[in-house]
Amino acid sequence: MAAGPTPVESRWVECRDGQIARIGAGDPPRRPDLDLDGMLLLPGLINAHCHLDYSHLRGMLSGRRGFADWIGQINALKRHSSLEDFSGAIRAGFDEAISFGTTSLVNIEAYPEIVGGIEAPVRTWWAIEGIDLRVPFDFGPLPELRAVSPHSPYTASAGLYRRARRIAETTGAVFTTHVGESGEEHEMFAQARGPLYELMDRIGRDMCDCGQGGSLGLLLDEGLLPRGSLLVHMNYFGEGDLARCAKEGHAVVHCPRSHGFFGYRAFAFDAMRAAGVPVLLATDSLASCATLSLFDEMRAFAAAHPGVPAAGVIDMVTRAPAAALGMAGQIGAIAIGGCADLIAIPDDGDPDHAATVLRHRGAVPFVMAGGKVLRGP
Ligand SMILES: [Zn+2]
Repeated sequence: MAAGPTPVESRWVECRDGQIARIGAGDPPRRPDLDLDGMLLLPGLINAHCHLDYSHLRGMLSGRRGFADWIGQINALKRHSSLEDFSGAIRAGFDEAISFGTTSLVNIEAYPEIVGGIEAPVRTWWAIEGIDLRVPFDFGPLPELRAVSPHSPYTASAGLYRRARRIAETTGAVFTTHVGESGEEHEMFAQARGPLYELMDRIGRDMCDCGQGGSLGLLLDEGLLPRGSLLVHMNYFGEGDLARCAKEGHAVVHCPRSHGFFGYRAFAFDAMRAAGVPVLLATDSLASCATLSLFDEMRAFAAAHPGVPAAGVIDMVTRAPAAALGMAGQIGAIAIGGCADLIAIPDDGDPDHAATVLRHRGAVPFVMAGGKVLRGP
């Protein structure tokens, strides 16, 4: 295939057996199978955190009355959904994510029993979600591309975290957890009060770990996180936590539009960058954002952090998540020997290609995953 000038400055790319075999800067050696002239070629985007289960809940929830209230709203909607609804939501979510150029996802899966009946059209880590508030939880056999996700410090016990940590350390599974998402979570752990504290207390959670410090500090103090964990949200954390995260190789997954939906305090990107903690961008679910587009997510992040160069923002949905998932050079990059996960967007003529990428809106006209064209001219 041939392509116009790209952010990696290649003119053409040759793919073989699902991998990138050759990259060239001059004219292609033979007539291309696919001519993408006038388009910018990019690596497929990586969504490090989504819940495709909830793709049928778009626009149905409000974040205005706080996080504990939102939990009540989503639980009520989930009670009215069947496993068929969730399967349909996952399929629709895949279609939407692919239409926006996503070729790899970490999908938090609350219903592992439906995974076997769904063929993922793109590279998918099915991160099995563990909650043991009311009943004990067992991860069971994990689907291919293993990942485990104790839901959060307020819904998963230390024992569940320990089992997930062991699975990650013995099998290489990706480990990801929500932590420090809301001020209410911080209030619950640091001060043993507030709406989330009251909700969890009512449910019957053992609240003896509250009133001592932040939720991330608790996970770090108790040694519940394996090296290289993906920590989702981190809108609230304690002093000294970032240095510890950097030392233990954790990465933070930030969901800019979900952050805006709930109106959380400013995301501490500069402090994370200064501490050497990688930040990845992700969509979260359609229960707290409007689309599964990482382009929309990049734009939202760039608007809130105008000092970060466009190339640095693109890095947060390509190279940085690839590294955090242990696939540096395989995905999130156009590299010889890497996966042929490629997308192309219209070139608007701006010599600053990264700026063009951040301006792109709507569907992505060309998407290839593992050498297979999923959307194309
Ligand atoms: Zn989430």
